[in-house]
Amino acid sequence: MLGARLVNISALQHFAFCQRQCALIHLEQVWQENFLTAHGRQLHERVDNGEPETRKGVRYERGVVVSAPQLGLTGKLDLLEHHKASYQYIPVEYKRGKPKVNDIDKVQLCAQALCIEEMLAIEVKLGTLWYWQTRKRIEIELDTNLRMQTKDLIAQVQQLFINGRTPSPTIGKHCKACSLSEICQPELTHHDASNRYIQALFNTEGE
Ligand code: SF4
Repeated sequence: MLGARLVNISALQHFAFCQRQCALIHLEQVWQENFLTAHGRQLHERVDNGEPETRKGVRYERGVVVSAPQLGLTGKLDLLEHHKASYQYIPVEYKRGKPKVNDIDKVQLCAQALCIEEMLAIEVKLGTLWYWQTRKRIEIELDTNLRMQTKDLIAQVQQLFINGRTPSPTIGKHCKACSLSEICQPELTHHDASNRYIQALFNTEGE
C-alpha cells in the first residue's frame, strides 16, 4: 500500500455501517453531528486528553497518533498500555454503546494493533474494548482470523477511495441512526432516476 492514500481507522467503522456514509465522510468531507456522534466524540475527547502516566508497571499513553504506510492506515488510539514487565503493548478502544453482534469493534481494535506492530516492529497479541453503557472491559485476542478480516476490510475501503465514487444509498434500519441522513436523503436519492443516470455516465466513462 506504499504511496496510496492512507485509510483512517475510523473509515472502517463507517464502511461497515454504510459504504455511502463512508464515502460522504472520507471522500466528500461531509460531516454532521447527531446525539450519538456527539456523545461518542465527548467520550473520546475525555479519554484522549488525559496526561500520560505510569501505575504499577504499566505506562498509559492517551490519544496516540499512529501511521502505518505499508498497511495503508492512519488514525488515533484512545489509549495504549505498555506493560513493562512482559513488554506487551495493548491498545484500548472506548465505545459509547454496548458490545455489538458483529465484529466491527474488534476489527477496528485489530487495525490499531496492526499499526502498532508496523511502527514498533513487535507483535501485539491482545487488545481491549471498553463499553461505556455496560461499563465492561473485554479482552480481545488478535488471532489469525480477526487479522484476515481486518486486512480484507482495509482493502475494501482502500478500493472505495481508489474508485473515488460515492455509492448509492442502501436504505435500511441503519439510516435511522445515521447522522448524515438529512444530507444523504436516502428516500429521494434512491428513487431519483437522474442520480442513476449520472452514475451510469461515470460508470461507462473510459470503457
Ligand atoms: S442515510 Fe442511510 S444510505 Fe444514507 S449515508 Fe446514512 S446509512 Fe447510508
